Amino acid sequence: MKAFYSDHFVLPLPSGHRFPMEKYSRLRELVGTLPHLELLEAPPASDTQILYAHDPHYLLKVIKGNLSADEQKEIGFPWTEKMVERSRRSAGATIAAAKTATREGISGNLAGGTHHAYRNLGSGFCVFNDSAITARVLQKEINPKLKVAIIDLDVHQGNGTASILQHDASIFTLSIHGENNFPFKKESSNLDIGLPDGCDDQTYLQSLSQSLDQLDDRFHPDFVIYLAGADPHEGDRLGRLKLSNDGMRLRDAAVFEYALDRQIPVAFSMAGGYGKEIESTIAIHFQTIQTALQFQQRY
Ligand SMILES: [Zn+2]
Repeated sequence: MKAFYSDHFVLPLPSGHRFPMEKYSRLRELVGTLPHLELLEAPPASDTQILYAHDPHYLLKVIKGNLSADEQKEIGFPWTEKMVERSRRSAGATIAAAKTATREGISGNLAGGTHHAYRNLGSGFCVFNDSAITARVLQKEINPKLKVAIIDLDVHQGNGTASILQHDASIFTLSIHGENNFPFKKESSNLDIGLPDGCDDQTYLQSLSQSLDQLDDRFHPDFVIYLAGADPHEGDRLGRLKLSNDGMRLRDAAVFEYALDRQIPVAFSMAGGYGKEIESTIAIHFQTIQTALQFQQRY
């Protein structure tokens, strides 16, 4: 299985910044030990590709460093050229994983899942919306009739993705998230499941299973983009849900199984994860890669 990384395009942050930058390089080092996994440098997303999901004025502001102080604050990163490059690479990694998956069944991005980015606005550590961009790239560059499902299991709602794609019937957005968590103003995905605080494995997995049934009834995707956020885990600082390690593994397996049973290619991204201990977040992301590898052998 191929996985794409961008962690070496370092985004300079002030010391004590709450974004867990180091998890990406540590995850890459860890997965580098896995047999049957090929790590590849992420290509940058081009302007043309980014514009499939973003407003030209917003892209220009990002490229030229003309984001206002408020806009930078909303993103959560200070503007630098390196921030722009990293954002391009992170989106490019999801595009590359998706194109690889069309040939090989499954592939992943060791970062990405930047689902809070809107068409004309970055937010919550997200500059470009890699999932929305990638879904449209597949349609523009591979197959115009492709029906794409975005299965977003990060604990935070995929508000940017839902907003960008709200009038696009060819892409189905599914978000299972903590109802009481950021973003506090939710957007309308095609299917939203808002879970209560403290939600356990059983409730979560049941909701996921019912959601995948609905996805089948309502859409029949030809391609799945999966955001495997680590933040529903009980060890997460921000998540508010209580999934165990095993619950997280079964969650990933349910999505991969769904895709494999229907012979639908799947591209996955890591999305969020803010463990009280960074090791627990890295372990959850690592587990996602391991689970994906098991499924790849069956494609
Ligand atoms: Zn999140």
